[in-house]
Amino acid sequence: MSNSSYNADIDPVEQFARGVKPNKEFYDKVITTKENGTREMIYEETLHPHTGDAFYAKAGQVIRIEQRPHQHNGRTQISDILFFTPDLEQWSDHLSTTAVEGFCPQIYGGLWTQSKFMEKIVTLVADEYPYELLSDPENNMKVQHMFFAAHCSKEYNMCAYGNDAVHMNSCHENFIQALNRVPAIAAIKDEEERRKRVQFLADRNDLNIFQPNQIIPDREGVTRGKMFLSPSVPDGTGLEFYCEKDLYLIASNCPYADQNLPFHEAKPNPIYIQVFETGIKPYTNDHLGMVKGDEWEKLVYEKFKTGEKETSVRTPDSYNLKTK
Ligand SMILES: [Zn+2]
Repeated sequence: MSNSSYNADIDPVEQFARGVKPNKEFYDKVITTKENGTREMIYEETLHPHTGDAFYAKAGQVIRIEQRPHQHNGRTQISDILFFTPDLEQWSDHLSTTAVEGFCPQIYGGLWTQSKFMEKIVTLVADEYPYELLSDPENNMKVQHMFFAAHCSKEYNMCAYGNDAVHMNSCHENFIQALNRVPAIAAIKDEEERRKRVQFLADRNDLNIFQPNQIIPDREGVTRGKMFLSPSVPDGTGLEFYCEKDLYLIASNCPYADQNLPFHEAKPNPIYIQVFETGIKPYTNDHLGMVKGDEWEKLVYEKFKTGEKETSVRTPDSYNLKTK
């Protein structure tokens, strides 16, 4: 008889999470450079409404993403973000990250790159969101403001508002714009190849930020995102990511703004991006010490070569069909 009760020592997701232990002492030193004023601002840029942009930072630097709603119409601005290595070979990956960190990053939590690498690309070192402004009286569970998932796209907008919405901006379109600003993309001479690469990369699931949410079962028991209206946060509310590698932050200023108005009426605000030099280099570029890259791939392909795993090509005729 199988046992349907819960056992954390067997739950695979729980086991994955236990394998990832952040070095809190190290990140506290990074956090202290802000408190002591020993970090140096490298640059500040604005992510304008209805745009996507790419922001470069080096390993050891901190990227701050800041809200200043009261300089504008008072509304908090939702953003969608991805991190890429400059060669675009690795990115902050939904699958790797949610398997070990859950859907919403916590302080000291990392964003991890995709399978075959699973290296840490950034670590969350500040989350100044006023969580006391968030609540769900329906269930009294915590409301988060970050989650790994999809981003708005022409398709989703058309699902919701009809085909005329194809003309409206979306995070996907902003990601396409942002990726086209990365040198490794600009260097692809063939236009078709370049567009294909951009579309693949823009299609990655990303981290939604400043977007109040719960990922919970709905009334029918279907687990899905429950999105809340965003309260107006104080100017200077920020998130900070410590860069474990040289990288580009690819960021979209989401046309849904603060989710307080119907999509067509939403008026997005600028978001402010600052990059600081902490003077503290990452303590390792191999946080998990696992087999990866070419060695990882070889282990899989060896099994095909030796015949341990079947890879003969499947054509419609290759099945043992009962009727022809
Ligand atoms: Zn969006």
